[in-house]
Amino acid sequence: MKIKIAKNSGFCFGVRRAIDIALGVSKKSGSVYTIGPIIHNPQVVGELENKGVKVIKKLSDIKTGSIIIRAHGVPKNIFDEAKAKGIKILDATCPFVTRSKNYAEKLGSEGYKIIIIGNPKHPEIKYIFSYLPKNTVILKTNEDIKKLKFFPKMGIITQTTQSPENFIKIASGLLGYSNEFKIFNTICPDAINRQKETQELARKCDVMFVIGGKNSANTKRLAAISKKIRKKTYHIETARDLKNEWLKNVKCVGIVAGASTPDWIIKEAIAIIKKPGNKNCREKRRIGK
Ligand code: SF4
Repeated sequence: MKIKIAKNSGFCFGVRRAIDIALGVSKKSGSVYTIGPIIHNPQVVGELENKGVKVIKKLSDIKTGSIIIRAHGVPKNIFDEAKAKGIKILDATCPFVTRSKNYAEKLGSEGYKIIIIGNPKHPEIKYIFSYLPKNTVILKTNEDIKKLKFFPKMGIITQTTQSPENFIKIASGLLGYSNEFKIFNTICPDAINRQKETQELARKCDVMFVIGGKNSANTKRLAAISKKIRKKTYHIETARDLKNEWLKNVKCVGIVAGASTPDWIIKEAIAIIKKPGNKNCREKRRIGK
């Protein structure tokens, strides 16, 4: 059985940067807080918790200390509230996410109706939206376009983990709704590379495993892309989700992983795929070691 692993698997630049910032602070001061998980991977968040990076639900849960702004950013009111309370802020918002926010603000200042293509419930979109006029439009699917009226100028950005196909589909669906468009392609280059590799592997392999948090938008996107090509696609969080029957009569296994999946989870899954039933092979290496 062949195992083909995507080159772009595991932590992306933005996630690695956020984790390094969090670990650096916790090492110096013993503990540090994040509002919501720093990245969308429960295993990594659990590991970080052991190293003093604690998750709080809301800012009012702490009175002093330092907070890390996670890779997806946080809404402006939280940032301002932390500042006002004198809480030390370390901004680990991914520069690609900040870039999207800056483009959207630029579009607004140039008189464009701002359109964001993305999931309104995703933290990244909540962060960007919080800096924009309240009448900014968020489109999750093509269906949402029907609610729009005509605007003379439309400026479009998209969620960093969006698939190019979806972006093009929704953006082209807007053609009848304006005379002038300005579009920034704000899909993260890392996300595009992962999506391309996923498609390539799904075409070549009999079964695909997409490894990453069930709450990770980019991992879910990879799983959906793979499933379109290869029906036998399984989104697993860790090796414990693997089932032996998925590997029966399989000649080629394709493995991709989301941007917030650590190497040790990927290695553990590979070890079990190579040797099904070997549940004791959990890698020693952990975050920050
Ligand atoms: S996937 Fe891209 S935008 Fe998201 S954190 Fe990673 S580098 Fe940043």
